[in-house]
Order: sequence, then C-alpha cells, then structure tokens
Amino acid sequence: MLAYLEHFVHEKDAESRQEDEVASLSRALELQASIDELGPTGIASKDFGGIKSVKPLAMIRPSSPVDVARVVKAAAASPSLTVAARGNGHSVNGQAMAEKGLVLDMRALEEPFEIVWVEGTAYLDVSGGALWEDVLKRCVSEVGLAPRSWTDYLGLTVGGTLSYAGVSGQTFRYGPQTSNVTELEVVTGKGETLCCSLTQNSELFFGALGGLGQFGIITRARVVLQQAPDMVRWIRVVYSEFEEYAGDAESLVGEVEECFDYVEGFVLVNSDDPANGWPTVPLDPEQVFDPIHIPSTAGPVLYCLELGLHYGNADHRSRARDVDRLLGRLRFVRGLKFQTDVSYMEFLLRVKRVEEHAKANGTWDAPHPWLNLFVSKSHIVDFDREVFKKILKDGVDGPILVYPLLRTKWDNRHSVVVPDSDIFYIVALLRFSPPPPKGPPPELLVAQNNEIIQFCTSRGLDFKQYFPHYHSREDWMKHFGKQWTRFVERKANFDPMAILAPGQRIFSRTP
Ligand code: FAD
Repeated sequence: MLAYLEHFVHEKDAESRQEDEVASLSRALELQASIDELGPTGIASKDFGGIKSVKPLAMIRPSSPVDVARVVKAAAASPSLTVAARGNGHSVNGQAMAEKGLVLDMRALEEPFEIVWVEGTAYLDVSGGALWEDVLKRCVSEVGLAPRSWTDYLGLTVGGTLSYAGVSGQTFRYGPQTSNVTELEVVTGKGETLCCSLTQNSELFFGALGGLGQFGIITRARVVLQQAPDMVRWIRVVYSEFEEYAGDAESLVGEVEECFDYVEGFVLVNSDDPANGWPTVPLDPEQVFDPIHIPSTAGPVLYCLELGLHYGNADHRSRARDVDRLLGRLRFVRGLKFQTDVSYMEFLLRVKRVEEHAKANGTWDAPHPWLNLFVSKSHIVDFDREVFKKILKDGVDGPILVYPLLRTKWDNRHSVVVPDSDIFYIVALLRFSPPPPKGPPPELLVAQNNEIIQFCTSRGLDFKQYFPHYHSREDWMKHFGKQWTRFVERKANFDPMAILAPGQRIFSRTP
C-alpha cells in the first residue's frame, strides 16, 4: 500500500486539471491515502545544488517495491508521465526531479535491512532508499561489520550513489561502491520487478550500476561486508610540489598489499584564509599549522594528502609503528604532519561535522554549483598548472579534492564511464560559498566550471564528468563515447518509453 501521495499545485487555472490527473492516478494506483497539497516549497522540486527547480505533478512515498512498480506501470499507461526516484536529493543539477511527473521519495522505502551469509561472506540486503549513515550505524552496532567502500558524506542513499559510482578514500582498494554489490532488485521502466546479479539478468545488473537511474529503480541492493575495525589513525601531510604529491599518492594506491586503508587528498590555498587555506588542514583545534615550514619555492596552492589506517584496540602499538614506516617514505614538508586517532564510526561520519557547521553558517542551504571530474594521470599535471594554480588559485570556499584511483577496480560492464588510463584522478570542486550578496553569484561559479571544462576540452585532456550534466544529445554521445550504443540499447530494453529519471535529460519520454 502506498503510504501517501503529495500533490503540487502550480497555478490557479491549472489547478483543477491537475487535481483531476492526480485523482485518476490515485484511482489507478488504488490509492486510499490522502492527497496533501505541498505548494512550491515541496522537497521534490529542490535539490542540494539549489540552482534548478521544476515542479512535479505529485510526490509519492512508496512503502514497498510493489508500490514502486505500480507507480511505474501507471506512468507507462499514461501518455506523458515520467517517474524520478529521489534518493536524498543530493544531486546538484535537478537529476532527481521530474517536471510534471511523479517523484518517488525512496527514503520512505524502509525495508529490507538484513544480514545474509553466503559461502562464508557476509552481505547486507538493504533498501535502495536507505541512507549510508544508517547502514553504517546499524551494521557496526548490531553485528560489528561494515561495507568496504564508502562515500565521504553518508547522508546519501544506497540507490542514489549506486546510480553514479560512489567514490571515497577506499576506492583505490575495493573499487567504487558499484563494485561492492553482488545483487540488485530493480523495477524497470516497464514496471517489471527483477532480481539481477552477475549471473541473473546480468545486463540489467551491469546497466543499473552507474546507470544514472535510466534503466530501473533500485529497490534493494546486496552489499559486501567486512569486519569493522575499532579505530582509525587519521593523518594529513602537506606538500608544496604537485609532482611529489601525485607521485607519493600514486605509489600508495599502487601498493594494495602494504598500505593505508584510506587515501585521499585536497588542494588548499597557500594563505591563512579560514575557508580555503592553512586552517583547513589541522585535524583538531589543538593542532597548529605553522607556515614557517612552507618552502619559499611554494606556489599559490599547496596539496594535502589525507590518509587513514585501521586498527583494533589490541594492535594499537604495532600499527603506530606501521604508520611511521609508511610515512617515512613520503616526501611531504617535514613539520606539516597532523594526526589523530578516532573511532571507525567517527571517521566515517567526519563530514557530518562539516554539515552541522555549514547549516549553522548558511552555506548548506545556499546554491552549490559543484563540478566533479575524472582526469587521466597523463594530464593531471597540466590540469594542476592551469586549473589549480591559476583558475582556482583563490579556492572554492570548500574542499577541492584530488586523488588517484585505479582503473582495474572499475568494471567496464557497468554504465559509468571513466578515462582510458590505468590511473585517473577524481577532482571535486565542493563549493560552499555563502549565498549572495555575501558570496559570489552562482552564475559566476557555473561560468568558472564551464571555463575549466572548456580548458580540458580545448587542450584535448582525457577526462570525464562524474555526475555528468549535459544539455544536448551530442554531448551525451561524446560523454559515453564508444559505450553510447550500449547505453541506448539498454534504454531500449529496460525503459523503452523513457519514463525513468527524466532529470538526467538524456532521453525524451515517448507516448
Ligand atoms: P539523488 O540525488 O536523490 O538521485 C540521484 C540520481 O539517481 C537521480 O537521477 C535519481 O533519479 C537516481 N536515483 C535515486 N535513487 C535511485 C534508486 N533507488 N534507483 C535508481 N535511481 C535512483 N558522491 C561520491 O561518489 N562520493 C562522495 O564522497 C560524495 N560526497 C557527497 C557529499 C555531499 C555533501 C553531497 C551533497 C553529495 C556527495 N556525493 C558524493 C554525490 C552523491 O553521490 C550524489 O549526490 C548522489 O546523487 C547520491 O545522492 P542521493 O541519494 O541524494 O540521490
């Protein structure tokens, strides 16, 4: 049974027509619950990006995969309705929206949450609408287990991140989150509910992973688990030269056997600016970043390698020796090393503190014109020279992530596309500027993003957008390259009327 359906009213003269549509939809869905008028403030017309807003016809809170299938079938029976699964709406370009369509609030889908053991390995069967932070808390506290591959911030849904990739400091070792699920339950654009895996309905399984929500709605995922460690030694070391930073980061991610458990890094401005500079490095208020250590040859930006090493309460001493040995080989600026010990849960929930701070200072609800790219190793030095050192030399009022990933950990059969290179970097411009007039107009920041993309394109850099956002079919074809045909075939197989995820703006609904 559907929990309930919320109705959006746009204009006075359109009101009665829309009420008719919603009423007939409710009948078609055998919906008995009430229809709430949310008006323009409804969450379904908003996302974290805060740049785009379109109004749906209605938002539906499904209580089971049966509800999801019923909604998709009702849309298929109509001449023009589309359906957008909305995870936690943390997209930045309206990807989880559906103009005059139906938005499914996937958070309402609470079940399942079940640990299953298959041939000695533990898995979590979890709802596509579950938040990763709830997955973490329940898995660790109930069974002492945890997924292997994460995102930095965990207020994201399982189905939302699996529709892209899901990347963080564990990706070099275990691959993105999409490489850490073995089975999905998916409601296709035809309204069929299918279980899929490597061996069963495999084309749907590969298609849905990184599939931008185009082939089906993920209602359940089976996630690989491992023993959760007790603690994490969390370390930051600073570099003045990009080549040394990148060389060390690449050598660390290449050594899967004897290495840290988490490897990331970011660019900071070489100044005392509180949002962009030296103060962003220390891990607790007791630590001081003393600029006296910065070599006189340093440029406008510095680089911070961020590392994590897991340990159990019993092996603290020996792991501390491991840290010293591993760090001893790195070429960071001596004197600019910061470390602290935190519980595993605290470490994975570290961005929650950033969220609380941003909510308090108004930058969480401000527009977020973010840009995320994958840039091939062979072009990252050019990118550093032109983008970090010039275009972004004053920072983005938030983290500028840059760290290497290994191509071998990404499955070519999945829908996500990445550069054709053994090592490529994720570059994330996580802008947290205050809203205007205190901060810059968002259009200016979008223009800066476009300038960066323009630079990459005109210089022929091997790069891909992560969370791609394009306006024309030609651009989508370029994005997918030789995988475009496969993407179109998957769409024809699983969502032939282009009902699903209209906010990605790749295909148009056919009657
Ligand atoms: P939504 O934004 O709601 O949806 C995203 C897309 O997926 C939409 O097209 C939607 O229709 C579709 N979709 C949603 N649920 C389903 C489903 N169940 N089945 C099929 N399609 C579905 N990403 C990383 O990889 N690593 C990070 O470290 C990271 N950190 C972030 C930090 C913050 C503060 C924010 C705002 C985002 C971050 N992201 C990160 C990006 C995040 O992965 C995306 O925003 C992603 O969209 C997940 O968010 P969501 O669950 O809110 O999905």
